[in-house]
Order: sequence, then structure tokens, then C-alpha cells
Amino acid sequence: MEAEIAEIQKKLCALGPMHPGSISYQHQRCGKKGCKCQDPDNPQPHGPYGKLSYVHRGTKVCRFVRADCVETITTRLQAYKTFRKLTDRWIELSVKRAQTEFFPRSKQQ
Ligand SMILES: [Zn+2]
Repeated sequence: MEAEIAEIQKKLCALGPMHPGSISYQHQRCGKKGCKCQDPDNPQPHGPYGKLSYVHRGTKVCRFVRADCVETITTRLQAYKTFRKLTDRWIELSVKRAQTEFFPRSKQQ
């Protein structure tokens, strides 16, 4: 258990920049007259554009991401998922360890 916790700590230290949330892709119509997206017969909307959605301290945020940043953001979203997975596991191990360290053995358990 100690070894696994040490391993988790090492992995956490190695994590790069992160960001919570997920990216979805959307097409848009600009509203300019005569634009290809307004064509009544064959509308061709602009995009797709990457839209980042996340919740931070209870507030939901949705923002379009610059096209040249989508790849970087995707890497950060992945890093955040790894971060959550590692901390979840660390907490799980900590709770297990506490059971053997702090609580008297009882017949109910
Ligand atoms: Zn348009």
C-alpha cells in the first residue's frame, strides 16, 4: 500500500498543465446576407468549432476555443482526468489504511 501511494505521488508530480471539462464540436451560422451558411437550398454552416464546457466552483462555463488551441486543451483535459483518477485512488488507499491504523477491531465489521 505504501508503495502504491508513493507511485501515485510520483505520477502526480509528473503531471503537466490540466483543465477540467470536455470539448464538443458545433457548427454555426453567422447571419451575414449571402453567406454560404444562409443558402436556402444547400446551407453550409461554419465550423466545426470546439466548445469547452466545464464546471468550476459550482459555475458552469461554456466557451468556444481557438482552433489552433484545441489540441493543447485536449491534452490538458486528459491530464485532469488522470489527476482525478490518481487522487481518487490515493483517497481510497488512505481510507483503507485508516481502518487498520485508527479504529479498534470490532465484531460488527
Ligand atoms: Zn456564414
